[in-house]
Amino acid sequence: MSLKIYNTFTGKKEDFVPVVPGHVKMYVCGVTVYDRCHMGHARAGVVFDFVYRSLKFLGFETTYVRNFTDVDDKIIKRASERGITCDELVDENIKAFYEDMDSLFLKRPDHEPRATRYIAQMQDIIKTLLAKGLAYEAGGDVYFAVEKFPEYGNLSKRHLDEMEAGARVAVNEGKNNPLDFALWKAAKPGEPKWPSPWGEGRPGWHIECSAMGRDLLGEEFDIHGGGKDLVFPHHENEIAQSQGACGKPPARYWMHNGFVNINKEKMSKSLGNFFTIREVTQKFDPEVVRLYLLSTHYRSPIDFADEYLREAQGTLDYLYRALHRAEILPGFDYNFDPNKADEISDNILEKLKGALEDDFNSATAVALLHETAKKLNLAVSSVKHNSVGISYVSVAGYYSALRRIGDVLGLFNYEREGYFKRITVFHLREIGISEYEIQTLVDRRDSARKLKNFIEADAIRDKLLNKRIEIEDTQFGTKWWVHR
Ligand SMILES: [Zn+2]
Repeated sequence: MSLKIYNTFTGKKEDFVPVVPGHVKMYVCGVTVYDRCHMGHARAGVVFDFVYRSLKFLGFETTYVRNFTDVDDKIIKRASERGITCDELVDENIKAFYEDMDSLFLKRPDHEPRATRYIAQMQDIIKTLLAKGLAYEAGGDVYFAVEKFPEYGNLSKRHLDEMEAGARVAVNEGKNNPLDFALWKAAKPGEPKWPSPWGEGRPGWHIECSAMGRDLLGEEFDIHGGGKDLVFPHHENEIAQSQGACGKPPARYWMHNGFVNINKEKMSKSLGNFFTIREVTQKFDPEVVRLYLLSTHYRSPIDFADEYLREAQGTLDYLYRALHRAEILPGFDYNFDPNKADEISDNILEKLKGALEDDFNSATAVALLHETAKKLNLAVSSVKHNSVGISYVSVAGYYSALRRIGDVLGLFNYEREGYFKRITVFHLREIGISEYEIQTLVDRRDSARKLKNFIEADAIRDKLLNKRIEIEDTQFGTKWWVHR
């Protein structure tokens, strides 16, 4: 089998044929940096990070571009509300973006261009579109004339006639057709502005991706990605601009991830029903969030609720425990080469390849992770009981496969006990008790026991149990852990 990708443009799963054999060029629309990122942004970020990792696993050389929209109506409005400059707002939110995305273990793309650094390239495309008669000036603004581009609507499967029937021109807008969109906007007082042949102003939103994509990846690249909400108008307009100027669509494959829903409604800032990444990673470890987001295929909608994250937490605990059980086997070589070929891991990785080649099926990869952890557990038990035919070789094979699948999914970033220590912190935060408070109670119980005051000792034990803290008296002293 070879890689197949669902292409929004054709509505079909297609064989993937890159422009340059062996090299994938991918452009993903990034965020408008006017506020903190929410779980919708986390999904797009994690999904395309997984696509990036998958392409590398499949042996492609990959060039990945993800932009920042750093000039836009929302940025101007928010900066003026807060009494700071647009630059200050943008810098603050780009810093926060990296904190959030790094916390989710996203690999940095090869290029992360900012729109305002590409004004000249945008103006070049606008000049070409004007020269070709596909755009027109109106009072310092420049608009794209959608009627002049017969393919308009092909990506989003909309017909111009139907769209026109539903559209209305706002007063004072100099558009010929209500569906025409701005390539350049005349400057308004107090807004960021750049000189141009059409007077001072700033670019429209869509033109930036046409310019940055072409500049960094060429006139025709392989994959263009983003959230489903970008199909129309953003990507539709981008095709019109790029194809209008260069004669061919910018990308061969258009990939769009589904929404994160709450009660069947899309999570979005405009609807006000959103959770920021930091709110969620206060309650759940970022790896749990990753596993939850990748447990569903990227094109399907995903429901957001604490109970689903708890489920992912349970799965991740199971996976880490399986790794840990192997690592503490006497004689287990923790530092063995995970890339060394062996029959067991090769077979499993062949299955992983099949899942990735099937339109990046992360849900199948997650199922494979589970299946492999189960086999690893069996192999570890067999070694412990000296079963015939099962050896360290099997343990190493399953262990190595598990880590490799985890690597493609962006999991197992923590070492050994590190994960369980982190998870304990999340549990204690949820329960509302600190490690210090627990230790104080444990010490008081120890003292009571020494004084043979078993009534008090038992009362303290019950108090801890009520908070899901279990204790055990061992020869090394009293141990405690959180009961899940
Ligand atoms: Zn874009």
